[in-house]
Amino acid sequence: MSDLTPLSLPEPEGRAYLAWLTDTSAAALDAARTGADRLKTAAPGPAGDVLSAWNNIDIALGGVAARGELFSEVHPDPAVREQADAISQQARSLATQFGLDTELYAVFAGLDAADLDADSRRLLERVLRSFRRSGVATAEPTRARIKEIRDRLTVLGQQFAKTIREGTRAIRVRPEQLAGLPQDWIDAHPADEQGLVSITTDYPDALPFRTFAHDAAARRDLLVASLTVGYPDNVAVLHEIFALRAELAQLLGYATWPDYDAEVKMIGSGEAIATFIDKIADAADAPARRDVAVLLERLRRDHPDAERVESSDAAYYAEVHRREELDVDAQVVRTYFDFAKVRAGLLAVTGRLFGLSYTARTDVPVWHETVTAYDVSRTADGELVGRIYLDLHPREGKFKHAAQFTLVSGVAEVSLPEGALVCNLPTGLMEHGDVVTLFHEFGHLIHHVVGGHQRWAEFSGVATEWDFVEAPSQMLEEWAWDPAVLRSFATDVAGEPIPAALVARMRAAEDFGKGYFARTQMFYAALSYYLHVENPDDLVARTAELQARYSLFGYLPGTCMPAGFGHLDGYGSGYYTYMWSLVIAKDLFSAFNSHDLFDVSVSSRYRDTILAPGGTRDAADLVECFLGRPFSFDAYAAWLAR
Ligand SMILES: [Zn+2]
Repeated sequence: MSDLTPLSLPEPEGRAYLAWLTDTSAAALDAARTGADRLKTAAPGPAGDVLSAWNNIDIALGGVAARGELFSEVHPDPAVREQADAISQQARSLATQFGLDTELYAVFAGLDAADLDADSRRLLERVLRSFRRSGVATAEPTRARIKEIRDRLTVLGQQFAKTIREGTRAIRVRPEQLAGLPQDWIDAHPADEQGLVSITTDYPDALPFRTFAHDAAARRDLLVASLTVGYPDNVAVLHEIFALRAELAQLLGYATWPDYDAEVKMIGSGEAIATFIDKIADAADAPARRDVAVLLERLRRDHPDAERVESSDAAYYAEVHRREELDVDAQVVRTYFDFAKVRAGLLAVTGRLFGLSYTARTDVPVWHETVTAYDVSRTADGELVGRIYLDLHPREGKFKHAAQFTLVSGVAEVSLPEGALVCNLPTGLMEHGDVVTLFHEFGHLIHHVVGGHQRWAEFSGVATEWDFVEAPSQMLEEWAWDPAVLRSFATDVAGEPIPAALVARMRAAEDFGKGYFARTQMFYAALSYYLHVENPDDLVARTAELQARYSLFGYLPGTCMPAGFGHLDGYGSGYYTYMWSLVIAKDLFSAFNSHDLFDVSVSSRYRDTILAPGGTRDAADLVECFLGRPFSFDAYAAWLAR
């Protein structure tokens, strides 16, 4: 039995957090500095000992960065969020400094790998590669410039995210303009003293409004507001980010930032990204045009002179089509997805699949009263394997999207993996799309926990190639579409489970539009790739061009989607990774028994071959080990053409 215990968080009140963040990060950064000094001054030791010392530095630095990144996005107190930003900046800065430390590099470059086991040899290769990619082998003035660029990029990234996070916009509409929206949603949006209703660009407002509101002009106004979040402030920030990344790549000997970035991913090169984007766009073209024609025909019944489907009409008419032709009424569907039941169902389903048990810990401090903590243990032997936090509802100043955050990286005999799901879900009835998002993000969390028992922190949890990371999460979405799985928790207020026939129609409705959805995704992927290659002077014009080339919906004048596109910092030129991972996810899913998604013989093998190894092997090898063959495009192409 492991005697590891989860981290104790402070009481949520701001001062306690400030002290805790400051003290723990100061101690950890000190330990990292001392550890690095000791490595440089000690007599050369066995390679295994040096790697162990490095692992401790990695754990210390990673812990500070994780706490900083999580609490800068979720803590209710702005002062704590600011302090959290500061400590993650310090951690990254120290990591950059280590990466450029020639004496430290010499310690690793001089190691004899002969006696190392395979995992340790892989770690040494990784460490040496990271040193090389950080620029340690460049001449001194270049190293100083690299350090300067990296520090500046950290600041810019935080500024970019903060502008988006705090840049929520709203439109104000007359109460009658809410026509079409569900009654409970309308009830939750009363008019102000002037008799107007505010609709914000946050997801719980914006998504239902774009889907259900009959008023086309209001839908358009709200989409324009959503696509101007961060605009114009973030334009200059983006230009500086693109320019600095390009300079950094060139200093390190790469033609472009995407080339530098893709070197450590499955895809391998920048050019391969452009090729992949076009391959998907081509495969999606016919199904995309087929479905947009359906939307246009229906739009013309309301507006006979309409010439094209605007992006602000797409979600609305897709919903109309689903309701009228495919007999799926999202407002009926949502009566089966009460948040509390969905959360319980999610835990029951994933527990059964992966042999895990979750114990609610109402006795441990959390950063906000709506956050729930669970201990995760192996059902077979009761061994504690991690802790998770679910922070699932929106609040002011909180992260606006859905993501899994690391709190602690799991390292065998050192620390249990701990992670947080941060989402913006309603507290009552949910759209089915929200349920899918929840399963998706939980896929990351499971990967973090199940894969978080490595000897080396470098390989802990989701630390695989980044373009593989979205495969386990996208695959878990399939469980939110299975009639038998949904029956186990999706019940209406009378306790009636969702009918299998309705789920089948929902699936057909979901399949509608997947071609134009893929094209839109390739528009985003093209933005992320080409903006990094070109850093175009006119960001708005280039956005409109790429939208025309890849998306089937036109550019909305006055908007600047990249300014609010948070992935441009975090994913850089790698937004393609979602689709790359989806191709693999479809292939992985093809190994499951589609008549019984609870078939534990497959899910446990999946857990052990794909999730548990974390980053100890190349993702392509993990996939081949699970499938018994290399991964292919076939399952994805078949799904797209269906
Ligand atoms: Zn994801």
